[in-house]
Amino acid sequence: MKDNCPTCFGIGWVCERHPNRPYGHEAGCACGYAAPCECNDSNRPDTSRVIIIVEAVLR
Ligand SMILES: [Zn+2]
Ligand SMILES: [Zn+2]
Repeated sequence: MKDNCPTCFGIGWVCERHPNRPYGHEAGCACGYAAPCECNDSNRPDTSRVIIIVEAVLR
């Protein structure tokens, strides 16, 4: 998780319906469920593994 993430402002969560807005933040949105931000990989170990595979293929 990045403290200076421009998407979630460092909280690591975004609005499920608006993935480019921080969840619950005063400048963000909380109209739907919370979803992990792109910078929040703690809940998505499978995704990071896929990215590694994609990078290996592209090289
Ligand atoms: Zn983020
Ligand atoms: Zn929303």
